[in-house]
Amino acid sequence: MPPSFKYVILGGGVAAGYAAWEFVLSGLRPGELAIISKEQVAPYERPALSKGYLNPEGPARLPGFHTCVNMGGPAERHGPEWYAQHGITLMLQTEVIGGDLSKKELLTKSKDIIKFEKLIIATGSTAMKLTDFKVPNSDARGIYYLREEADAAILDKAVKKAKGKNAVVLGGGYIGLEIGAALVINGVQTTIVFPEPHCLRRVFTPEIAAVYQTHYDGKGVKFIQAAVVGFVVDNSLNVTGVKLKDGSSLPAAMVVVGVGARPCSYLFPKQLAIEQGGYKVNGRLETSLPDVYAVGDVATFPIKLYGNEMQLQGHVRHARMSGKYVVQSIRAQEECRVIDDYDYVPYFYSRMLDMRWQFFGKNVGDCVVWGLANVTPAGGKFGAYWVMDGKVVGAFLESGSTDEYEALSRLIREQPQVTDLKKLEEDGICFALTV
Ligand code: FAD
Ligand code: NDP
Repeated sequence: MPPSFKYVILGGGVAAGYAAWEFVLSGLRPGELAIISKEQVAPYERPALSKGYLNPEGPARLPGFHTCVNMGGPAERHGPEWYAQHGITLMLQTEVIGGDLSKKELLTKSKDIIKFEKLIIATGSTAMKLTDFKVPNSDARGIYYLREEADAAILDKAVKKAKGKNAVVLGGGYIGLEIGAALVINGVQTTIVFPEPHCLRRVFTPEIAAVYQTHYDGKGVKFIQAAVVGFVVDNSLNVTGVKLKDGSSLPAAMVVVGVGARPCSYLFPKQLAIEQGGYKVNGRLETSLPDVYAVGDVATFPIKLYGNEMQLQGHVRHARMSGKYVVQSIRAQEECRVIDDYDYVPYFYSRMLDMRWQFFGKNVGDCVVWGLANVTPAGGKFGAYWVMDGKVVGAFLESGSTDEYEALSRLIREQPQVTDLKKLEEDGICFALTV
């Protein structure tokens, strides 16, 4: 008889960890829940991998960043013993390759069947690989990606070996900037290469990007705007350089690639509705099949604040909140109660060298950047508002206090009217604090 569980969470990342926590808080009985993960470790806070994990001094290591050390969670960390204590079956190093969801069955790579009554899909995203685009020599040794703890362990060793040598980071997004910062603080000579005109194009305006690029420059990181066409390798197929479209090449003892991620939504072709590459869910995070839910990076869900506009969100706060919400939604259904739909407002943050920022809402419409005069090469507080149809719909803040970030979070929900953009620029953070 195949093992059978009342609840199965497929994926063992951030959303899975928060869903398990919520199950326990809401009266889970031993033996009811299994988590299936291809990783070798219990759920953890993935953002640590590109930040504390790579610190040259006192790096973050498990069990230090197992799930729920953040977000006002309990002081205890949910390592494997926590799952055992609550009668949760952790099936680690177990990859699911498909299944028949109408029969409520999953199939693992070792050809085992696992049965469920209710399934929460939390398979997250996977890093886009240059090998998928057939970039010449992109399978060389010394080219690294970062998604899972096992990748971080390998990357960390490579970073330590590259001290004093050249490294190239491909991609000017989150991974590119955070890994670029980690490399330089480890004494690696770092160049970040990306094709677009400035870094973090999807969040930053050119003026905002210039502040961060100047700050990185001051720490010795170079930025090059270029397209990469291949890699230079030695006779043993170790990478030694990166070839650019203009025919030149950059020396590199190691390369880190962060050119985007895609949701892991390929396991059940034709069984579940897909939208924008993720599993399409409704406001209760239900997929197109009964008793099958999707959360975190892999779910395309309606954003209530934006009239149920469907969006994917590859960010940790959504993973945490949707992991908790889906269990509340399941419990409500079991108890024939109605709960409000999932209500998430887009939120992103990053820590880069000694700067840290948060963004709330949408970056559409007119952008008003304030406080740039406060900024020195060492940093400083500045921010931006986005105004659409006379309402503030987006807000960005560097070096804010907790109260200021909370004010921005409230502001973006309220979307106050503004008419005078010049005054908004003069008021800066005071505008959010007084609304
Ligand atoms: P994940 O946490 O990715 O977990 C998915 C899990 O599913 C993994 O354990 C995976 O192994 C497993 N899985 C996938 N397929 C299968 C399968 N077929 N069988 C079994 N198991 C499977 N966001 C922020 O907002 N701020 C940050 O600072 C930040 N930093 C980040 C740093 C890094 C290095 C990375 C990679 C991401 C970062 N993110 C950050 C994004 C954030 O971590 C993700 O949005 C979040 O982890 C998504 O949670 P999830 O549970 O949906 O997926
Ligand atoms: P991003 O989408 O953030 O950035 C990818 C970057 O690479 C973009 O700037 C993109 O440009 C550029 N790019 C695309 N193709 C190439 C290429 N061939 N050569 C060089 N550059 C290229 O993805 P990341 O890989 O940085 O991050 C992966 C995932 O991890 C995302 O889901 C992200 O949300 C998450 N993450 C989040 C963090 C955070 O929130 N702080 C931190 C780390 C990861 P273009 O924009 O033009 O496509």
